[in-house]
Amino acid sequence: MGFADSWHVALGAVRRPLSYFGDPEQRLFLPFLLGALGVAVLALLAHRRLTLRALRGLLTPRVWLHQSSLLDYKLLFAKPVIHALFFAPALLSSYALALWTVGRLDAWRGVPGPTALPGWQLRGLYTLVLFVAWDASRFLVHFLAHKVPVLWELHKVHHSAEVMTPFTLYRSHPLESLLFKVRGILVTGLLTGLFFHLFRLSAVQYDFLGVNAVGFVLNLLGGNLRHSHVWLRYPRWLERILISPAQHQLHHSAVMEQCHSNYGVWLSCWDALLGSLRFSDEGRPRRFGLPRRELNHSPHGLASALFAPMWAGARALVPRRWRRTEPAPAQESPAETR
Ligand SMILES: [Zn+2]
Ligand SMILES: [Zn+2]
Repeated sequence: MGFADSWHVALGAVRRPLSYFGDPEQRLFLPFLLGALGVAVLALLAHRRLTLRALRGLLTPRVWLHQSSLLDYKLLFAKPVIHALFFAPALLSSYALALWTVGRLDAWRGVPGPTALPGWQLRGLYTLVLFVAWDASRFLVHFLAHKVPVLWELHKVHHSAEVMTPFTLYRSHPLESLLFKVRGILVTGLLTGLFFHLFRLSAVQYDFLGVNAVGFVLNLLGGNLRHSHVWLRYPRWLERILISPAQHQLHHSAVMEQCHSNYGVWLSCWDALLGSLRFSDEGRPRRFGLPRRELNHSPHGLASALFAPMWAGARALVPRRWRRTEPAPAQESPAETR
């Protein structure tokens, strides 16, 4: 790609986040933001705490213009440019993968006969399977991001946020976003290919505006409150089924014990299975962010958030005994010991 081409690609990509407000595939889709605001107001009403002060608290500049939030915005615009310039040409589309999968399966197993399942059942099944597979795979990648040292160094960009707004979802290292993108392409491509193979042209999901119906409804019902200061809890029985916004806020706690839990996006069962589920009845985290000993970059600087985690990640790949300088372990408070 020549310089002029790169410039055009970069210019197109930097404008892309502005379209997120009208894109139902993005959590910043305007109806999702309004849905979150509506749920927050209803929650305040239910607790008889709907005051002007509480409403102002939702939109306080102290949070939205905090240095930490400014980095969220910078990453929001910088990442599409980095992806367009370096990664996009190498990425396969999920459609191409689905075609490849159906070709391989047809060749291996032969073309199956027509299914007896009615169309609406098939569509419901595909919608559900896609939702569960997406949720499980997002959990798995997130879980690995906390457990594999090199991935954890990259994932720290998301956790260094000191305040949270819906834009914090987009605060992640470009390499981590790439990993999530590849995961999405693999899951959608392989599953769609499998459904094409089994049921021929019936692999169509129930959707709203082209988005999985289940995910759409959950996003509308306050998905954006996960990254916010609205402490919205569910009853314990419901938190065993769905991760509440409060449970994800616990995941952003500066206490590492809480941070290394609640990896799920929507369903709680994956955390319950691996013993990492925490309930919101243990109370609000006192502080969001990372303790100083875990930080590998400045939580406010774009260049630092882009390059320092890669350096720390590369260091994490080097066996411990080969590292020349090993920082002395910081004093840990008992509450922060993993
Ligand atoms: Zn995390
Ligand atoms: Zn988060």
